[in-house]
Amino acid sequence: ENNLHKEELNFKIIVIGDFGVGKTSIIGRFTEGQFSSHYKITIGADFAVKTLEWDENTRINLHVWDIAGHERFGSLLSVFYRHAVAAAIVFDLTRPETFESVDKWLIDLRRKLQLPGGKSLPIIILANKGDVTVSTVPKNIDDYCKNNDILAWYITSAKNDINIDEAMIKLTRAALANY
Ligand code: GDP
Ligand code: MG
Repeated sequence: ENNLHKEELNFKIIVIGDFGVGKTSIIGRFTEGQFSSHYKITIGADFAVKTLEWDENTRINLHVWDIAGHERFGSLLSVFYRHAVAAAIVFDLTRPETFESVDKWLIDLRRKLQLPGGKSLPIIILANKGDVTVSTVPKNIDDYCKNNDILAWYITSAKNDINIDEAMIKLTRAALANY
């Protein structure tokens, strides 16, 4: 294979949502293929890179950013959002109040991140911990996505590796279409 002619794209994707919903676990699952049930507190903004051989001509390096400990403020510094081309907002199916917070995160995101040329930012919602039996899907999530220009939502499990690759590929495809 001759990689010399491959175009290499660097995409920044941000993962936001309340504390404990599984953001770090989702990023770990997606970029490392691993899940750890041990609590890991990370401080400051952090990112992991996942490289996708997208097609014959294109390699995409996804820089997936974790808000890592800044959840409690409910809003982030603009610098965290800067140059992002797509976002995932995560909530926890076992804690309905974390779905209520999705709107707060969405407002912060839209306020602080505008794409050049007025393009629409691809955003997905991840309803995480779908492996837990007591989880309940919010009734209004379809309407919420439709009314707020959300690309798609998925039930995910970082623990059992459900829908995470699918969701991230969907987001990447939309970012590529904007590029
Ligand atoms: P963050 O604060 O949003 O980064 O959340 P973490 O990734 O640190 O996860 C918080 C807790 O939820 C940890 O104990 C994880 O092991 C657990 N967790 C994360 N994702 C899942 C999942 O898909 N299923 C289950 N059952 N637990 C999860
Ligand atoms: Mg975390």
